[in-house]
Amino acid sequence: MRGVQTLITPTPESETARLARFFKEEGLSEDSVLQAVDLILQRTDVFLDDALAVTKETAGFESACKAGCGFCCHTMVTVAPPEAFFIARHIEQGFDADARDALKAKVIAYAQRTREMDGGARYVKREACPFLREEDWYCGLHTARPLVCRAMHSGSLPECKAAYEARDALKPAPTMAVFFKNTQAYMSAYISTLRPRGIVIYPVELAGALSVIWREADAFGRWLAGEDIFASAKLPVPQVERE
Ligand code: SF4
Ligand code: SF4
Repeated sequence: MRGVQTLITPTPESETARLARFFKEEGLSEDSVLQAVDLILQRTDVFLDDALAVTKETAGFESACKAGCGFCCHTMVTVAPPEAFFIARHIEQGFDADARDALKAKVIAYAQRTREMDGGARYVKREACPFLREEDWYCGLHTARPLVCRAMHSGSLPECKAAYEARDALKPAPTMAVFFKNTQAYMSAYISTLRPRGIVIYPVELAGALSVIWREADAFGRWLAGEDIFASAKLPVPQVERE
């Protein structure tokens, strides 16, 4: 196992520089954006493995998370637009036609129903993420799940379950801040790298962004050409403030 000193935590600066280099070499296209997301997800998985090992060693933190545990999947999922395009492609390629149509209808209905709800309101109402499979609570996106979902690690399943049962949106899961530094670094890198290239980019709500991608003709091409296509998927105003 690697030692604590070897954990290299991505920063907005380091990942902006890395992403800028990537687009300089590869050019900016639908393929290169999807490739960048894929590489970032791979780097994230390596980082999180290391971070979990280090936090176990230094703080005794042990993740209680496992597939089929979805109490935390009842909130708003925020992504960068490149992640939304990546997930849209995953859905196009990874499901047969009937399953894909059913999933798209579920996502669109969820987006319409929750449009004005922030994460806390969704949690209180137990609005399950549309990708949480009803039959077994597995994540239906699996390998394509967003950065923020990968970063979520709780040290206590009973606490997650108790918060869910009490609909207590203000009770934070016992976690470690370092897991989310990676997500923050890449969200920042996407924005800092793509904005100077003329792209209108801000964090978006996943289901709303997918609805835009499926509704609008040539959404990816128009977004790359500088059009502001994701206005309807902007994050809702927070309704529940944490202390
Ligand atoms: S964060 Fe909590 S609810 Fe979510 S998978 Fe981990 S233990 Fe389960
Ligand atoms: S995308 Fe998957 S991991 Fe993320 S909230 Fe939805 S079901 Fe849970």
